[in-house]
Amino acid sequence: MNSEPANRRIVRAPRGTTLTARSWQTEAPLRMLMNNLDPEVAERPEDLVVYGGRGRAARNWEAFDRIVATLTDMSDAETLLVQSGKPVGVLATHPDAPRVLIANSNLVGKWATQEVFDALERQGLMMFGQMTAGSWTYIGSQGIIGGTFETFVEAGRQHYGGDLSGRWLLTGGLGGMGGAQPLAGVMAGCSVLAVEMRPAAIARRIESGYLDREAADLDEALRLIDEAKASGTAISVGLLGNAAEVYEEILARGDLPDLVTDQTAAHDPLQGYVPAGWTIDEWESRRERDPAGVIAAAKVSMARQVRAMLAFKARGVPVFDYGNNIRQMARDAGVEEAFDFPGFIAAYVRPQFCRGRTQFRWIALSGEAEDIRVSSEALKGVVSDPTFTRWIEMASERIRFQGLPSRSYWMGLADRVAAGLALNRMVAEGVVSAPIVVTRDHISSGSVASPNRESEGMLDGSDPVADWPMLNAMSACSSGATWVSLHHGGGTGIGFSQHAGFACVADGSDAAAAKIARVLGNDSSVAVFRHADAGYPEAVETARAEGLRRPYAEA
Ligand code: NAD
Repeated sequence: MNSEPANRRIVRAPRGTTLTARSWQTEAPLRMLMNNLDPEVAERPEDLVVYGGRGRAARNWEAFDRIVATLTDMSDAETLLVQSGKPVGVLATHPDAPRVLIANSNLVGKWATQEVFDALERQGLMMFGQMTAGSWTYIGSQGIIGGTFETFVEAGRQHYGGDLSGRWLLTGGLGGMGGAQPLAGVMAGCSVLAVEMRPAAIARRIESGYLDREAADLDEALRLIDEAKASGTAISVGLLGNAAEVYEEILARGDLPDLVTDQTAAHDPLQGYVPAGWTIDEWESRRERDPAGVIAAAKVSMARQVRAMLAFKARGVPVFDYGNNIRQMARDAGVEEAFDFPGFIAAYVRPQFCRGRTQFRWIALSGEAEDIRVSSEALKGVVSDPTFTRWIEMASERIRFQGLPSRSYWMGLADRVAAGLALNRMVAEGVVSAPIVVTRDHISSGSVASPNRESEGMLDGSDPVADWPMLNAMSACSSGATWVSLHHGGGTGIGFSQHAGFACVADGSDAAAAKIARVLGNDSSVAVFRHADAGYPEAVETARAEGLRRPYAEA
């Protein structure tokens, strides 16, 4: 589907203050769409693939060109409709309405299978939007590193008394999301061994500063980790190989890690996971001629990898699924006990979700690193969370920008609103040189139904209820987000998730301030309602403390 002649083009967002579109309301989604495909940001921009297996920014290059042309001449009283990466209509709306509404990869329940999706994609009728790929808010590994860091820190707190020094984590996959693991691990204090099949992915992480070293073989990898431990430091090491095979080998040697997870793109058994014993070339060519055979082989390998993970667990190592649905794939291939180790949300993140704490991501549309530097400094005086300052200092030192400069941090309701308003003021007062986009990941507290991940093991058993992401998207629309997206299948794959995202442009206007306060506040509120409704005491308490109205709980 991506054999168009234009497939060698290089896309980068415009920089500076000169508008390509008619206002910042349309310039912002335009630059963010282009930024998703920036070669520094996207994993395979030539195929419009941004990250997460085959998560795309637009259905094909023609659709991309038409989105760009439409955003360029649309007015602030119009709204573009995008259906699975294709611009299908422009509506007459009003200035407070979203400028773009996006629906990606949604299928009616009974048809929501990988096979139906693959057939529709082959016919050119659908596109996989992953989470932030098809909603034009992906910013590279820098967008996930904060969440990954928080997960590792919490794992360290639960299992190692809050001290990960001298410990090491074994993982797989150094793609768009997985590539954040080595740096997040080292920042959290532990060494990381990441097994990856593609030499280019390892090289890319070394080049971007996310990975310290590549080892020639497992012996060297383990030696580097031992040396780091002896010198009281942490190191991240990439190893070219197949995760299923390397996990088995480590287990057989008895060199036990201190934490085990995996971030291969296992949610997509056709395009996301290389079966053990296969070369990349063999995998790519067989995907075309024998998709069913590739899927079956991938699931058999995932079953091997999950058996190895279960064996680590049996030997006392904390093991968790990092949101790629590998447990489900292994269970499909006969590993009945695959879910004996937990998912990372249920194990480490749920308490934050209950408090409406979720990601806050801001992006400088100017392209100026200085805009992020000064805004980060200024936000230190705004965000009440005491660890924010430490995170910003570590991030400034260690996390390189990819594409448009940006930062992200997990914040509670009041901090998100305060930070969004502060950024809008900085635009109005000229502290930063151009408008800022305020957004978040789709992995968020009130915006995802994903029974093997975000909504796994809910207290009231409401894991598969998908009303919440719908309510979340509708609340973002009615609150005045600049663009809003509703997706299916991100993270855990087709049939396994429903989720929503939004972005707001802070252009310095009073109207933007009002919209930002509503959108961010209501986004966190939906999260608190979702968890309070499920019976989590922290969420009930947060609703009370924040003064959020819950009619069903009112006397
Ligand atoms: P990606 O497609 O960019 O990268 C996956 C990487 O895994 C590739 O580099 C690939 O070469 C490698 N790989 C595939 N099979 C392998 C094998 N058998 N052994 C070793 N390496 C192998 O995907 P991504 O964006 O990094 O996402 C990874 C997974 O994490 C996805 O399933 C995604 O849905 C999930 N995810 C996680 C989070 C999070 O919070 N961490 C967020 C969103 C998605």
